Amino acid sequence: MSKKRVYTFGNGKAEGKADMRNLLGGKGANLAEMNLIGVPVPPGFTITTEVCTEYNQLGRDQVVALLKPEVEAAIANVEQLTGTKFGDAKNPLLVSVRSGARASMPGMMDTILNLGLNDEAVEGIAAKSGNAWFAWDSYRRFVQMYGDVVLGLKPETKEDIDPFEEIMEERKHAKGIELDTEFTVDDLKDLVKRFKAAVKKQTGKDFPTCAWEQLWGAVMAVFDSWTNPRANYYRRLNNIPDEWGTAVNVQAMVFGNMGETSATGVAFTRDAATGEDVFNGEYLINAQGEDVVAGTRTPQNINVVGSRIWAEFQGVSEEERKSRYPSLEETMPELYKELDAVQQKLEEHYKDMQDMEFTIQSGKLWILQTRSGKRTAAAMVKIAMDLLREGKIDEKTALLRLEPNKLDELLHPVFDSIAVRSAKVLAKGLPASPGAATGQIVFFADEAAKFPQSILVRIETSPEDLEGMNIARGILTARGGMTSHAAVVARGMGKCCVSGAGGVKVDYRARTMTIEGKVYKEGEWISLNGSTGEVYEGEVLTRKPDMSGDFGLIMDLAAKFTKMDVRTNADSPKDAQIAKEFGAKGIGLCRTEHMFFEGHRIKAIREMILASTVDGRKRALNKLLPYQREDFEGIFEAMAGYGVTIRLLDPPLHEFVPHQLATQRELAEEMGVSVDVIKAKVDSLEEFNPMLGHRGCRLGNTFPEITEMQTRAIIEAALNLKAKGIDARPEIMVPLIGTVKEFDMQAGIIRGTANKVFEERGDKIDYLLGTMIEIPRAALTADLVAAEADFFSFGTNDLTQMTFGYSRDDIGTFLPIYLDKGILKHDPFQVLDQEGVGQLVQMGTQKGRSVKPDLKVGICGEHGGEPSSVKFCHRVGMNYVSCSPYRVPIARLAAAQAAIE
Ligand code: ADP
Ligand code: MG
Ligand code: MG
Repeated sequence: MSKKRVYTFGNGKAEGKADMRNLLGGKGANLAEMNLIGVPVPPGFTITTEVCTEYNQLGRDQVVALLKPEVEAAIANVEQLTGTKFGDAKNPLLVSVRSGARASMPGMMDTILNLGLNDEAVEGIAAKSGNAWFAWDSYRRFVQMYGDVVLGLKPETKEDIDPFEEIMEERKHAKGIELDTEFTVDDLKDLVKRFKAAVKKQTGKDFPTCAWEQLWGAVMAVFDSWTNPRANYYRRLNNIPDEWGTAVNVQAMVFGNMGETSATGVAFTRDAATGEDVFNGEYLINAQGEDVVAGTRTPQNINVVGSRIWAEFQGVSEEERKSRYPSLEETMPELYKELDAVQQKLEEHYKDMQDMEFTIQSGKLWILQTRSGKRTAAAMVKIAMDLLREGKIDEKTALLRLEPNKLDELLHPVFDSIAVRSAKVLAKGLPASPGAATGQIVFFADEAAKFPQSILVRIETSPEDLEGMNIARGILTARGGMTSHAAVVARGMGKCCVSGAGGVKVDYRARTMTIEGKVYKEGEWISLNGSTGEVYEGEVLTRKPDMSGDFGLIMDLAAKFTKMDVRTNADSPKDAQIAKEFGAKGIGLCRTEHMFFEGHRIKAIREMILASTVDGRKRALNKLLPYQREDFEGIFEAMAGYGVTIRLLDPPLHEFVPHQLATQRELAEEMGVSVDVIKAKVDSLEEFNPMLGHRGCRLGNTFPEITEMQTRAIIEAALNLKAKGIDARPEIMVPLIGTVKEFDMQAGIIRGTANKVFEERGDKIDYLLGTMIEIPRAALTADLVAAEADFFSFGTNDLTQMTFGYSRDDIGTFLPIYLDKGILKHDPFQVLDQEGVGQLVQMGTQKGRSVKPDLKVGICGEHGGEPSSVKFCHRVGMNYVSCSPYRVPIARLAAAQAAIE
């Protein structure tokens, strides 16, 4: 049997069904399913997504030849069901041509309605319906849609004017009218003529009059739209593979524009914003297709309750509401009841909130689409839990219904929804770290406390800015990507950040920023939306997110199914505490260097770096010791009973020394040396490629006294807590090893120091000693390393950097182009590259466990909080993932889903 390319539906029968969405697209599969469950749907057929792939390989002519017999038969079926004839002048069948991929894709082709009309058929429709206005309005719409979408008259950018809209506006102006509905039949006839002339002018060809030619043109245009730039962009953004293709749905028209007993609208079975179980929606009388969402007329609520709330919000009196904006429940009570029954049936059937399209033609209800409705994070959580409580879905299904990344919305402050609507957008950058922030501009990190609520505006941030970033309500940078310093640190802090806002020009000297010629001074108010990347003028009201009880229930459910622990990356007791509240079971990465920037510590560390003798270094390290010990005590205490992985000093030392003359002078004075000595030392730390330079365990191996001091601080802190009855569980982690020898050398120092402290104190504690696997060579020789190590933690930031050979700090110059050209599917620093880097992770884990079966393995890169990467870690068999505190719930949900899947 030859391959089936067309699936018909209509009159309670269908060749497809809901679970065939891969083949029929979401729209097509649901149109078929609705037929099967007795929901009134106009008859039609679906051309499969596979044909789209064939089209891309074989081209138009061959695909038309392949499709022709089946499409002709399917049209004949619709003709028979509707009692009309395609291409007929007296009794024409009109159809819509609709795209429909597996996942809903707003970047795809616009739908074409009323296809099959020409100068004769329009008269036939007019005579048959007894409504010439309706016939010509439909024809006018068809020529416009077909001209725009199939013949390519629609302008590429929003700035350019649609030629048809231009003609419409011109005619309205000439006639002194405002609404499309005010045109007379003669006006509409005139418009059609003008539209066709515009088509001829721009394409050099006459508007096609043959229904079949129209149909094939539209079908091919749907296939073409799969590869248009908008669709490509959307696919990339949402991880939709190019190979999927789109289906094409051809369906008999039903008309909501036939007069006062006709209407069209959209409806939701539950509230998409709050998740509340209330039927709601909007409609318009005597309208077609997307009129409701197009915004040319004010859409009316379908039910009385919604309508009253709307009126109150708009300041419309009850009388005016009833006369000008009545609900469907009031205008067509019987049909409203019917629609209500359908929505209940659909939700009962799909067991999820549905978003439906309906049309009423002369008092008869038709459903044109149903799908799982898009919803806010709050609604997502509430609906899943409500459906679970209503017994409609089970626990696993409830968890799988949730989109882990969306939980983020619930964890950060948000803008007041009304206030943000009237806010003026000044600039747009990357949504680097979600949340809402409003405050006064400061340009220097050490001035962040100048105002009670400040927004730190920088060209870029650096480790020195850490404290200020922590104080500021939000961070705005002109440069840098999603993995820039500002972005990574802000996410870690759960702080709102917009990065890489190219339109912002910062002048540190003048303490101003300029956006589109307008100057903003220090102290002026701005607001940042870290979820959209938008920068607003002035102060926009924010509020705490509503973390309803359902959120906690979801986390409990996740805990029930998960196999992997979620730890956190935290450098302070405060972060550790937040993460613990979100359910983190320990710390997977505590970066000791972040502690070095605070207060007096930076002085001591600088002294250590600048010392020219071992003794000098030891003296400076001795000053650091109490600070470190105190930090560790705080963190161990916050995470009592859980493992705390502490990474020994990692970054290149030049990050800690002053690069400005004034600070260099200050330091010289303090140390009692000349500024030239300082300068010379700073210069000597300069490296061509610091990320591949003197850092990580290379520091500890060249300056063992650093490792000694840090080990001592860790062990002493743990012993101090033990004395207080607090269960501290240190896990000491050596960074950046490439050879087993590098690890062994460090391990020797650590064990030696620990034993010394145990002896001094006459007491002991258990501790683990492990390493990061972040250099490809370490992954390749993981069996050797595992012999000596208690645990592995994959540092996938560096591992990605070194496996790809991309400098994470310089990726901004080529990454956007690579993504654009499809050379890379994702930023590999955000989404773990399972194909390449993932192999190293998998191999490292397997090799490690081949010599030590119970080797503890985790991940601590940025990827530890990214759902697809978390799922990968589950499959590799990791014991835990570690991520920034605010991503802990996301990772927990993703880990549970991985276990269920
Ligand atoms: P989208 O995917 O953008 O929602 P649709 O294919 O659903 O596009 O169609 C756009 C609009 O046209 C919707 O309002 C839909 O209800 C309407 N529509 C589509 N096909 C028909 C039809 N056969 N009869 C009446 N209205 C239709
Ligand atoms: Mg639709
Ligand atoms: Mg690293």
